[in-house]
Amino acid sequence: MNHTWHSKAACQGLAPEIFYPPTDDDADAAAAKAVCAGCQVRESCLEFALAIREKDGVWGGATERERRRMIRQRRRTA
Ligand code: SF4
Repeated sequence: MNHTWHSKAACQGLAPEIFYPPTDDDADAAAAKAVCAGCQVRESCLEFALAIREKDGVWGGATERERRRMIRQRRRTA
């Protein structure tokens, strides 16, 4: 798997707690999503998290609950 996107991650150097909010609720995840929204490798990051079935945290602007939904939708349309 290609990991070169890591070096362009907008979250580099930021406090990891931002990306591991206590809940998946919008209010808790908003700070992380705001950073992801401006990240130039958001798609690669999201695809990576989906591929490894990452359970925790916000990746590619999506919470765990949102990623689970994406996986289900993809299965349905596959
Ligand atoms: S999309 Fe978000 S979590 Fe992924 S690399 Fe960019 S800032 Fe980090």
